[in-house]
Amino acid sequence: MHELSMADGILKAVISNAEQNDATEVTEVTIEIGKLALLNPEQVKFMLGVLSEDTIAKDANFVMVEIPIEIKCKECGYIGLADSDDLDHYAPMVECPKCENKIIEVTNGKDCIVKNIVIEKPDD
Ligand SMILES: [Zn+2]
Repeated sequence: MHELSMADGILKAVISNAEQNDATEVTEVTIEIGKLALLNPEQVKFMLGVLSEDTIAKDANFVMVEIPIEIKCKECGYIGLADSDDLDHYAPMVECPKCENKIIEVTNGKDCIVKNIVIEKPDD
């Protein structure tokens, strides 16, 4: 139930942010999910829809953006996208596409963040 706790956290952050800005309604939320965050974007989106019922985000359009994995190889120095087409959702093995080394530093694609929130205000 990783997705449920993540969706819950996202929604709380969105609503508290919207309320601080005197929003009457949240219309759109853009969420970036790194491929290494081990979250299923469709499941997160579904749970956001369920959890947002009876909140000011109930009609919000949740836009999920998948962020590819970027790495820095400690062996050959390669910096760029990792080869992750066949990524195992539960036990990902990320390796350098150049030298196939697995001693790498992940520089992007690990996080799940709220990128943008669009709100309605009373005077709009
Ligand atoms: Zn390498």
